[in-house]
Amino acid sequence: MEVKQLLILGNGFDLQCGLKSSYEDFFNSVIIDNIGKGFGLQQMKPSCTGFWETLLFHYYKRNGNSKYKWCDIETIIKNTLWILYYGDNDKLINTKKSLWEEVKLCAESKQIPEQYAYSIVKNTEDQIKFLFSYCVKFIRNLEKIEDYTDDEKLQLLTMQLFQELNNFEKRFCQFIKNQIVNPQDKNQLNLNYLVNAVNLLARLTNFYNYTFGNINQFVISKVEYKDYGEPFIKKILSNEFYALRNTNIINFNYTALFDILKVESPCVYGNVHGKLCNNRCTENCTSSNIIFGIDDTFIQTQDANSDLRLFSKTYRKMLDTSAPINILPSKDNNEIEIKFYGHSLSEADYSYFQSIFDYYNLYSNDKVSLVFYYSKGYEQYEAIYKLINVYGRTLANENQGKNLMHKLLLENRLKIEEISLD
Ligand SMILES: [Zn+2]
Repeated sequence: MEVKQLLILGNGFDLQCGLKSSYEDFFNSVIIDNIGKGFGLQQMKPSCTGFWETLLFHYYKRNGNSKYKWCDIETIIKNTLWILYYGDNDKLINTKKSLWEEVKLCAESKQIPEQYAYSIVKNTEDQIKFLFSYCVKFIRNLEKIEDYTDDEKLQLLTMQLFQELNNFEKRFCQFIKNQIVNPQDKNQLNLNYLVNAVNLLARLTNFYNYTFGNINQFVISKVEYKDYGEPFIKKILSNEFYALRNTNIINFNYTALFDILKVESPCVYGNVHGKLCNNRCTENCTSSNIIFGIDDTFIQTQDANSDLRLFSKTYRKMLDTSAPINILPSKDNNEIEIKFYGHSLSEADYSYFQSIFDYYNLYSNDKVSLVFYYSKGYEQYEAIYKLINVYGRTLANENQGKNLMHKLLLENRLKIEEISLD
């Protein structure tokens, strides 16, 4: 009986392969003015606009570059919506009310000067002041403001922030696409990245025990003939990739390895949060494909504020008809190894992991095992511990939840292994 593999890749995969594709990379390359930075100035690049970019910049001003822990766009989206709709538990704003309540008051009463408006959010952090003035300005600029109910105004504001998010996603698409080409010659691919990615994939799935030295060792040009006899050159993968037929890959990056190589995928391969578009992003980016958003569990725990669903990754994925279905290996009597690499295992993606664990009935199915791979320096024992325990708490039987970790270890179904690329 064959062992099936489900490989889950996070941004650590692309970073390890040399693709500068983190939020921090985006921030440093697109948002911050590096020339000014050299003179000790904190300012945005003149070319940089957009609500979410500016918000990121305010977080930066507040937190500095202390390891860029603050620089997680999805956490920022979540916090922003939370403050706007529900108010802030940590008393970042002076009142317990939601920021929207303050925005509404300030925007409606034209007599209230901006200075007063600022006194409401006076002691708060830069990013909230920015959010506040952006929202006030948006509402004040609505034509015939008196024709809208408060709910309608809030709805328009939510749609505006969502539109801004779509624009941000397009600029992110463009940024990553600039990385997958050769910096010296934009018409050529970034071969280093591609060779590294194939080699790391080989280590993670064991499909090949050696290291490819260059792309010609695994992408082969083959002459084929069309129905009417005309020859054309088709690119195919070398035979070793046949070993991937029982592997399914879920990639949280926006890069689709086999699409970039222009070959047929040797395995089921899906980009859960969308993938790069095929157009010129400056003109016609279709990266409605790239999805930044918040986890469904955040929305479900709140009262039904229907407009928030726009920001739900699950909701948007549902609307995306190009998404691959049946990404999970089927449930049968085969052994299944669920492997993780380079994923921070952050709460933003818990919904995915929980539905995968539920699907295979992780608790009692002894054919399912988990393997967490890491590269030296990126150990994640705490995140793994938390993921398993939070999942345990979702199980109907409370006692099962409590001993899930113990049971997995005892049955040798949870492994944490360092992966070496040499
Ligand atoms: Zn694009």
